[in-house]
Amino acid sequence: MKIVDAHNHIGEWGTWEYRKYRISPFEGFEIKDVEDYETFLQKNNIAKSIVCPTYCPDGNIAFRYNRLVEEAVKQLDRVYGALWINPIPEFKEKSEEVLNNIKKGIIALKMSPNAWKQFTPDPNSWNRDVREIMEKAIESRLILQMHTGSQNSDIEHVEKLIDEYSPRIHLVHMGGTVRGHFKLIPRLKEWIETGLEVYADTSWARGFAVKWAVNYLDSVKNIFFASDNPWGDFKSELEKIKSLDISDDEKDMILYKNAERVYGI
Ligand SMILES: [Zn+2]
Repeated sequence: MKIVDAHNHIGEWGTWEYRKYRISPFEGFEIKDVEDYETFLQKNNIAKSIVCPTYCPDGNIAFRYNRLVEEAVKQLDRVYGALWINPIPEFKEKSEEVLNNIKKGIIALKMSPNAWKQFTPDPNSWNRDVREIMEKAIESRLILQMHTGSQNSDIEHVEKLIDEYSPRIHLVHMGGTVRGHFKLIPRLKEWIETGLEVYADTSWARGFAVKWAVNYLDSVKNIFFASDNPWGDFKSELEKIKSLDISDDEKDMILYKNAERVYGI
């Protein structure tokens, strides 16, 4: 069985204080460097992979981990990269630098609206700085890998971006919450019908959501398998696809063919 993992992370999350407790949730399975990353690929028999930086409570760290993504891409043939950007004014310069220095093997831009403070993917919430970075990102034609879920990452904000700009966009977690799935899946069908390049991955999606999506959509061609390692658990994410009641060819589309076609890898 061939597997392309369309979204997972590199870079140590470490220990942070959260509600007065010191927590180290990834202890024992951190992906600190390229060596750890290669072990993860080998252990799980991953043919190709798209890696992005881990993001931490300090918003600067993901930008630092862009170097790790570039290193992994350079050292490992089967690895492609998604670099972190954040369009809010305090990270404008850093994001511009990323967008001006896209190297071979970088095929996506990773972003999480939950780190955008008062801004959301809805263009009506943007100021001039945010608009400038977002337009530059969209015009790059790299696929935007956008976190979806609650608050700033709610599909109601994301759909405004898609309606206004028609970006090439990979919606991580397929909406991310129960309401997110309810909002996204019917819209995804419409976007696919109108020829928009909107894709969703299966990481973190609730059990029902992937089953519903494969039943409801006319084709599974816009769905990617992703583990979101180390946030997601590779084996259970994979089992979610293997156990779907669809043909082997449709499983292969989700497991690798779609990502290969869309990302050109
Ligand atoms: Zn992720």
